Amino acid sequence: MEAGAASLAAAAAARAGARTRAVLAAGTGALGLALPPGAEERLLSFLAELRRWNRAYNLVADAPDAAWAASHLLDSLSIAAPLRDLVPGGGDRDAPAARVLDLGTGAGLPGIPLAIALPELRFVLLDGNGKKVRFCRHAVAALGLANVEVAEGRAEGFAPCAPFDAAVVRAVGSLARIRALVRPCCRGPVLAMKGRHPARELAELDGAPFEVAPLRVPGLDAERHLVILR
Ligand code: SAH
Repeated sequence: MEAGAASLAAAAAARAGARTRAVLAAGTGALGLALPPGAEERLLSFLAELRRWNRAYNLVADAPDAAWAASHLLDSLSIAAPLRDLVPGGGDRDAPAARVLDLGTGAGLPGIPLAIALPELRFVLLDGNGKKVRFCRHAVAALGLANVEVAEGRAEGFAPCAPFDAAVVRAVGSLARIRALVRPCCRGPVLAMKGRHPARELAELDGAPFEVAPLRVPGLDAERHLVILR
């Protein structure tokens, strides 16, 4: 590349980086989230690692960084406040850290952004897919996330040392399936992230208690709902 073209490319990359940062900052502001020190840099580093690995591993659908900031970072962070409110000891620094399972985490979603935003909670990311687990382990090490463990395996055979205090689940089958997979290892609420209001899936729960709330994800023009299975 000629020097002029190289500096144009560098300027375009810097503009794209600035745009991604702006989407993230505006979005966390709109969500009313006060991020801990260094969290924004870590979230952006997570996107950078995802970008690097996605070329070979095809972990998530390709899109520009600013779109990923909304569809992956802000979408994950849209349940940070409800999770913190629901989890016992979540904000209380003297209580033992509550443990949260991210079932079917894929590329670490929503678990890694949540772990960055909520360092007082401990997260276990579980997935049966080896290459996604490898990426998660790499990202956790690269970002220095002390509150995250990554486990490879199917939820069906998963036997944690102690039941989880809560679980988060995004894009892993129907609510009835999620409930069947998570219940044996979680004694607390299950936060399932859904698109449109999942009326049919809710009807399949056969009277099991639940709450549904619409979620608004800044920068994402799509219907999102949070279902809390009790
Ligand atoms: N939560 C991520 C990934 C969703 S794709 C996101 O929102 O982007 C669904 C993921 O769940 C896949 O990575 C798949 O490997 C995993 N998965 C599905 N059923 C599973 C099971 N029974 N046990 C463990 N992982 C499972």
